[in-house]
Amino acid sequence: MRCSGVVCSNAVMPERWRVEPGKPVRLESIDPSSTPGAPGGKAETVATLPAFHERLAALQERLWAEHRRSLLVVLQALDAGGKDGTVRHVFRGVNPQGTTVTSFKVPVGEEVEHDFLWRVHRAAPATGEIGIFNRSHYEDVLAVRVLGLAPEKVWKARYDLINAFEQTLHHGGTTIVKIYLHISKEEQRRRLQARLDDPDKRWKFSAADLEALRHWDEYREAYEDALVKTSTAIAPWYVIPADRKWYRNWVVSRILVKTLRRMDPRYPQPMEHLPATIE
Ligand code: AMP
Ligand code: MG
Repeated sequence: MRCSGVVCSNAVMPERWRVEPGKPVRLESIDPSSTPGAPGGKAETVATLPAFHERLAALQERLWAEHRRSLLVVLQALDAGGKDGTVRHVFRGVNPQGTTVTSFKVPVGEEVEHDFLWRVHRAAPATGEIGIFNRSHYEDVLAVRVLGLAPEKVWKARYDLINAFEQTLHHGGTTIVKIYLHISKEEQRRRLQARLDDPDKRWKFSAADLEALRHWDEYREAYEDALVKTSTAIAPWYVIPADRKWYRNWVVSRILVKTLRRMDPRYPQPMEHLPATIE
């Protein structure tokens, strides 16, 4: 098997992109514009997406009907990394009933007055639900670390706290999948420039985006640390080359379908004595 970083060319899908617990991750060795395992170029790959949307929708319906377990999808990326686009494309077919999306911003008000996991735990999916985190508790070891918003000893202690928290969710019946959308600095710059150039996208631009570009290397280091310290058997990280949006959508769809298939949610047993007809 040929491996470059965590991307191994012959590994079974979707393990190809999974960060093995305890194994160091070198993001530099993963080409963000690569498309390993894709069934062809853009057109061929995009043509397979409707089938994934259908499967995802069918599996979500069963998860909701079963109402015993939940799925948490954590999406992390640098600014303009494609988190919003992933939510929009990948979850296109799912029923909004039974799905929650939570976007985590700079903590404010009550959020600041509690421990860093308080707001996150409250947003965790209930039984039957798919919960999507657009950013997450990982900002507390990423942005907080890179921008110096807390002392080192504070953010350093958080990796273990995060692992324990995710273990708690798992114990409560939540399957966890964590996805890092890996884009190149050039692609990030291009997308941010596009936000400036397009009047309909300008609203998305913020000063924090420029900060992220300036701190590119520190973010990479912080991500590498977070990935290696918190990719666990019960809450694995997947690193997705994400410069090409069609490839990103295809991989994320595959991972989610595979994860839900493994969960194998079942419709509940019908009532014991069902009437044959309604009088
Ligand atoms: P956006 O996702 O573009 O709306 O931006 C949200 C901003 O909030 C990003 O700059 C994040 O880094 C920041 N953010 C989210 N959570 C935290 C946190 N716990 N501490 C500090 N900054 C955060
Ligand atoms: Mg932003």
